[in-house]
Amino acid sequence: MSVTAQPAALLTVDLGALVANWRDLAARVAPAACAAVVKADGYGLGAVAVARALARAGCRDFFVARLSEGLAVRDAVPESCRVTVLDGLMTGEAEIYRRRGLTPCLNDPGQVAMWSQAAARAGEKLPAALHFDTGMSRLGLSPADAASLLADTAALDGIELVTVMSHLVSSEVPDDPINAAQLAAFRGWRAAFPAVRASFANSSGIFLGAPYHFDLARPGCALYGVNPLPGKPNPMRGVATLEARILQVREIEPPQTVGYGASWRANRRTKVATVACGYADGWLRTLSGKGTAWIDGKPLPYLGRVSMDLITLDASDAPAAVPGRMVELMGPNAPVDAVADAAGTIGYEILVRLGQRFARAYIEP
Ligand SMILES: *Cc1c(COP(=O)(O)O)cnc(C)c1O
Repeated sequence: MSVTAQPAALLTVDLGALVANWRDLAARVAPAACAAVVKADGYGLGAVAVARALARAGCRDFFVARLSEGLAVRDAVPESCRVTVLDGLMTGEAEIYRRRGLTPCLNDPGQVAMWSQAAARAGEKLPAALHFDTGMSRLGLSPADAASLLADTAALDGIELVTVMSHLVSSEVPDDPINAAQLAAFRGWRAAFPAVRASFANSSGIFLGAPYHFDLARPGCALYGVNPLPGKPNPMRGVATLEARILQVREIEPPQTVGYGASWRANRRTKVATVACGYADGWLRTLSGKGTAWIDGKPLPYLGRVSMDLITLDASDAPAAVPGRMVELMGPNAPVDAVADAAGTIGYEILVRLGQRFARAYIEP
C-alpha cells in the first residue's frame, strides 16, 4: 500500500502495542502457550504485518478462517510456525493444505476421511486440528459425530492430531452458565486425546481463569485492542488510530441544515468541519449523528449523516479545526469500543470493516 505525503485519511497500526498485548495475554495463560488469531486480514489491520510482528515476538501458532488467508499468512511467517485454518477441509483442497504445510481444522467425519485418505496417498502423516462443537452449533464435530469417531479411531489413521479444540459461545459474559457447561463438555472430549494439546479460550475466555486455558489460548480481538471485558476497564493497549483530514470549514446559521436528508438543523451559529472519510472507507454510516471525533483534546460531535466520502463535524468549540489539519476518528480519545458503542455494533466489526482507501502506516515494535 503506497503512502502519499499528505494522505486524506491515515490508519496507523502500532505493532509495538500489538506485541505488548500478545505478551500480556501470553503471560496470563502461561504455562499454556498463546496463539494469535489473524483471520479477516488480521481483524482489518493487515494479517501479514501482524503475523510477522507476532512471529518475531515468539508466537508460534496462527489461526485464520479461510484457506486463502492461510496461504497469505503461511508466506509471512517462518516454517516452524503452525498456521491452522478454521473453516475446515473442503473437497479438492487436501493437496493444497499438504503442499503448503497448512493445518486444517477437521469439522466433520467426511473431512476426517478426506484427510486420512490424503495421508494414505501421500504416504506421510498429515497434521490436523479436531474441532468439537460444545454449544456454538456452527463449526466442529457434533456430539454424535464425536462419539462415533471415538468408537472408531481407525478413522484417524495417517492423521497426526496436533490440536483438539472448541470455541466459547459467551466468554465475554463471565457468569453465563454456558461457559461452565462448555468447559465440562470439552473436558470430556479432550480426555480421549490426553497426549494432544487442547485449545479452548478466545480473548475473553482467557479472563475466565486458568481452567479455561488448557495448552493453547487463541486470542483475536484483544490483540488488536478490543476490550475482552465489556463494561470493565480495558486491560489491553489501543493498536489502531484512524485520522482524517479537514477539507473545508464553514459557519452556518439557523435554520440551515447539514448533509443528506437535512437530518441535522442548526439552532445556533455553528462551525462545520468536513473531513475526508466516509462509509466507502468502511466507516459505518450508523455513526451518523452519534460519533465523536477529536482534535487537540476537544470533542467534535458528528453532525448529520455520514456520507460515502465525507463526515461533517461540529467544530464550534475547536479553534484548531482548520482545513488541512487531521482529526482523530479512532485512537486514544476514541477507543474502538467507544466507536462501536456509538455505531451500535461491537469493536470487532469496526476493525474488520476498515477499508482500503486510506493510507496505512505501521509503527514497528
Ligand atoms: C475468531 C475466533 C477466535 C478469536 O476470538 P476473539 O474473541 O477475537 O478472541 C478464536 N477461536 C475461534 C474458533 C474463532 O473463530
